[in-house]
Amino acid sequence: AAAMDKPLTIGLIPADGIGREVIPAARQVLEALPSNAMPAKLSFIDLDAGFEYFQKHGVALPQETLAALKGDCDGALFGAVSSPSHKVAGYSSPIVGLRKQMDLYANVRPVISGSAATASGEKRAIDMLIIRENTECLYIKEEKQVEGPEGKYAIAKRRISEFASRRAGEMAFSMALQRDAMRQQLAASERAWTGRPKVTIVHKSNVLSVTDGLWRETVRKVYESNSQYKSSVDIEEQLVDSMVYRMFREPEAFDVVVAPNMYGDIISDGAAALVGSLGLVPSANVGDSFVVGEPVHGSAPDIAGKNIANPIAAIRSAAMLLERTGYGSAALAIYRAVDKVLAEGQIKTPDLGGKSTTSEVTKAVCKQL
Ligand code: ATP
Ligand code: MG
Repeated sequence: AAAMDKPLTIGLIPADGIGREVIPAARQVLEALPSNAMPAKLSFIDLDAGFEYFQKHGVALPQETLAALKGDCDGALFGAVSSPSHKVAGYSSPIVGLRKQMDLYANVRPVISGSAATASGEKRAIDMLIIRENTECLYIKEEKQVEGPEGKYAIAKRRISEFASRRAGEMAFSMALQRDAMRQQLAASERAWTGRPKVTIVHKSNVLSVTDGLWRETVRKVYESNSQYKSSVDIEEQLVDSMVYRMFREPEAFDVVVAPNMYGDIISDGAAALVGSLGLVPSANVGDSFVVGEPVHGSAPDIAGKNIANPIAAIRSAAMLLERTGYGSAALAIYRAVDKVLAEGQIKTPDLGGKSTTSEVTKAVCKQL
């Protein structure tokens, strides 16, 4: 309860393009939370980063931003960053830098379907959470091209460590329990997942027996060595190819899915296709002591500055931030308000076939709250 008296400080990093429209929208929604849902006071700090910032100042992730995040913030919201189409000297992605600097070792992406189904009183069919290890695998980017006797070939290294696999596994099991606790607050008709919490371990150890073998074994060990996990969570394994197949055939069969970096990347983009517009899909970059909510979409230069970007991905990312910082009821209030607006179907942005503006959707969510 003591923690509840402390204000929650959120760093806001809109960065580029529609990030500048959807992050302010998410802030408005956070500010509209009634005090019975959000017991703590919220404060915000505006922070710079991004490609545009880089073009003006020669740095994409300024030291002041990092210092403020580390010193003053409990979490942050990141908008989107434009990726230059060609390599720009001295530029590196600020969100990648942020993940490194703040040790945000997992990317967490919920896949929730059919808010329209909720309106008609049906159960939501899909309620899956993908946890992608975010520090290693092929993303160590150690590649080289070699001139061999039969011509060129190229080699990429893939790193899988016990350390990174263990903490990704730990996050998967603890989130499975956390989700279960949150579901207890839902009416039976609101629950898509009605069984025991389940974690699906994704790998391809039939081919990559050494790297994926270590991943699989390590995640299993996390489970085997924790009596609470063993008594309350089920586990299964899925080869990544059949994971993709099953995910499209029966997405309702998954609760928490945990995957190494590259498989996780592919599965989570595929999963976004299951639920419609990119403008709806949130994510969170999570570490042990910090979280950065981030809509999955990019900076969408084609629609930037027109007040037509869908703010829902960013609003849901803000809710994920609240969930992770211990304000589950506030998060739930936001998820429900968004579902209500989507279900009513009157106020929606053009990506969903509507004519409403970013501001109108934001206002509608606030009004639901
Ligand atoms: P970036 O280089 O920053 O990734 P992008 O051109 O790839 O930019 P994305 O943001 O990845 O653009 O989005 C792809 C398409 O989806 C865009 O053309 C955009 O119109 C649409 N889109 C993305 N996000 C939203 C949103 N929040 N609301 C509406 N449409 C969106
Ligand atoms: Mg893109």
